[in-house]
Amino acid sequence: MRVLLEVDDLCVNYGRIEAIRNVSFTVDEGEIVTLIGANGAGKTTTMKTVSGLRPVRLGSIRFQGKDITNMPAHDRPVLGIAQSPEGRGCFVGMSVLENLDMGAYARKDRKSPKVKEDLDRVFGLFPRLAERKSQVAGTMSGGEQQMLAIGRALMADPKLLLLDEPSMGLAPKLIQQIFDIVTEINKQGTTVLLVEQNAAQALKRAHRAYILETGEIVREGTGAELAADPAVKAAYLGGD
Ligand code: ATP
Repeated sequence: MRVLLEVDDLCVNYGRIEAIRNVSFTVDEGEIVTLIGANGAGKTTTMKTVSGLRPVRLGSIRFQGKDITNMPAHDRPVLGIAQSPEGRGCFVGMSVLENLDMGAYARKDRKSPKVKEDLDRVFGLFPRLAERKSQVAGTMSGGEQQMLAIGRALMADPKLLLLDEPSMGLAPKLIQQIFDIVTEINKQGTTVLLVEQNAAQALKRAHRAYILETGEIVREGTGAELAADPAVKAAYLGGD
């Protein structure tokens, strides 16, 4: 399997606060890799740094072997990195279809039939969005907006989909559904880097996982290994 994303010894600060320290991890083509950790562990910071929204203090990020450590955020979708941000981040004044169109904006092939195929893919994954094409995003439920944010990121036809807390704020039934869809997106060929507080679901779905504690990676393994690890169970899986 080929390495898609390589993060080496990454250090990121907010002023004098060290948010992450010497964080290293890899994502191979075809994988779901998850970063789990408590509030404030540095998950969102790591994700934002991969998508170029936070500057790197030390360390490097490579994508398909290319050094992108200091590449501007707006150039990264062109390479194939798309983020569905924490807190959904839809364009609330725009319709569902307009939001999805915006997702395809940075594509070089945006006039090609492939864009229509990807729209059909999104509607296949999220039939609710197909039913609500002209609804204004801001009037949709939290779960629907979450689906739209993921759908919009998929419209960039990413090689790597960055998902920051897709289950946040959702009812238990919807959480299950969102994770089923993440698994399906991956089966269809998209590599996924997933940040989650819902460690049980994330470990169940991920091929490999890393645990972040106060800005550092303290454990790594397959999803199954970490889910069976007594220390991980005690700290992140409610002790069962
Ligand atoms: P959460 O699940 O709560 O979003 P997280 O694991 O994503 O947590 P981060 O948001 O990456 O954690 O935060 C990592 C550290 O950086 C924390 O100590 C946090 O207080 C700090 N931090 C995050 N954003 C800022 C900011 N804008 N200014 C100053 N410190 C920040």
